[in-house]
Amino acid sequence: MTKYIFVTGGVVSSIGKGIATASLGRLLRNRGFTVAPMKLDPYINVDAGTMSPHQHGEVFVTDDGAETDLDLGHYERFMDVNCTAGSSLTTGKVYSAVISAERRGDYLGGTVQVIPHVTNEIKRAIHALAKEQEADVLIAEIGGTVGDIESLPFLEAIRQMRTDVGHENTMFVHVTLIPTVGPWQEVKTKPTQHSVYKLREIGIAPDVLVCRTDVSLPSDVREKISLFCGVPPQAVIESTTVSTIYEVPLTYEEAGLGDFVVDRLKLEKRDANLVQWKQLVDTLKNPKRSCTIGVVGKYTTNGDAYKSIAEALTHAGISNDSHVHIRWIESDNLENGTPPESFLQDLDGLVVGPGFGGRGIEGKIEAIRYAREEKLPFFGICLGLQTAVIEFARNVCGLEGANSEEMVEKPPYPVIHLLPEQKEVKEKGASMRLGAYPCNIVHGTLAEKLYGGQRIEERHRHRYEVNNDFREMLQNHGMIISGVSPDYRLVEMIEVGDHPFFVATQAHPEFKSRPNRPHPLFEGLVKAAVERKANLVSSVL
Ligand code: GLN
Repeated sequence: MTKYIFVTGGVVSSIGKGIATASLGRLLRNRGFTVAPMKLDPYINVDAGTMSPHQHGEVFVTDDGAETDLDLGHYERFMDVNCTAGSSLTTGKVYSAVISAERRGDYLGGTVQVIPHVTNEIKRAIHALAKEQEADVLIAEIGGTVGDIESLPFLEAIRQMRTDVGHENTMFVHVTLIPTVGPWQEVKTKPTQHSVYKLREIGIAPDVLVCRTDVSLPSDVREKISLFCGVPPQAVIESTTVSTIYEVPLTYEEAGLGDFVVDRLKLEKRDANLVQWKQLVDTLKNPKRSCTIGVVGKYTTNGDAYKSIAEALTHAGISNDSHVHIRWIESDNLENGTPPESFLQDLDGLVVGPGFGGRGIEGKIEAIRYAREEKLPFFGICLGLQTAVIEFARNVCGLEGANSEEMVEKPPYPVIHLLPEQKEVKEKGASMRLGAYPCNIVHGTLAEKLYGGQRIEERHRHRYEVNNDFREMLQNHGMIISGVSPDYRLVEMIEVGDHPFFVATQAHPEFKSRPNRPHPLFEGLVKAAVERKANLVSSVL
């Protein structure tokens, strides 16, 4: 029998509901429970695939190829689980299903309504995921803020779930903000009270309040919140701002949330194993070394657009006992005539990230040229591989004007081109090579050393590929093709020799990195960056 925890948010958006949900999941994983995380998103887009990273942040890709909200990345990283397409439900998906059913005649002439048809579809999807994942506990986060019109059907569905599966099998966690005002940093509980009133109006009484706050809550404030909101004092969880997000589960555990949830849901009482998590948080907070990695991208104004890359670098820092300082570099800025060294010369490593469309492409190519020539550790991801191939074709093979068919129509040397099967695709949604694909690593390459094996699997999200007509020429000029699809048709990874670290992959390895299991390619980059810095320091001393 699965237990259900529903996480809602109040007062303001961007309050850290995703991290709260992920951290709660970690508490249960520490106790050995099987947890299925889920995100219920009120937007009408069917999935996040068509949403701009500028507006919405990163599109997170699952093994089974779903393009989802970045919160699924938090769930996977904190809980060390793999989400699936069913882990993400949007209003768009719900209505598509209901309208298709109506067209098929499934409702037998009935009037199709939000209650019960839309809410039934939401509940069906929740139960289906619990079954698919054989979950002891399903934790579903409801996107948006209580009071939004859009999220009402989801809230109504979870309200009904309590009646359907019973009080002791469902729990409502409400994440709110406790602001401070005035010169004395007076703690204010009114916004939280109002947000809970709003929830109650809908028929949901929260069992736990997670209170986001910058200051520690005095006990009288906690009692006041408890009294006004009808939540026991031990379930008013103070969540103060911490220096790393990975510390949040530890603060929850300390506040007693883990034991409270286990009691409340009548789960089996088990010891919480915190050893590994405490160790990694300790390293994160007190690293022995540091390095600076530049990330060149075209959506760097939104801090969330490259979320998984930033987290993967942080994870790689843990195993290298190094703080990884990330410097975001907008690729446009490398195109206005300023020489690349003015942005890149004090870096210890460089990542050129994923992206779509032509803007900023020449800046990325310039940055890669600099990294290749100056032997700056370089790691290219997806478009980062494609631009590395273009750079190599132009500047090493001498193919002037080499480019990707995505950037210009009919380039003289289309070293990156559209996959034949993509040529016919007209619809944008989910029309890419998506999800996990196997890759054979070539023996004797750096990739083999890093992965420690020859058969790997990574997640993908792209339409374009290295053009095989140029494969031989690239190799003749020294490019190493270090990873290929099992049928040899697709170039998956490249390297350049006589360089401390020049690796690029067509995949998105950042999606598989976990704090407790950093990704080998990111680990390799950070190791090379730390070594470069140490060498530079010792050459100066
Ligand atoms: N725009 C490129 C493609 O579609 C790269 C995509 C990416 O970086 N994820 O192939």
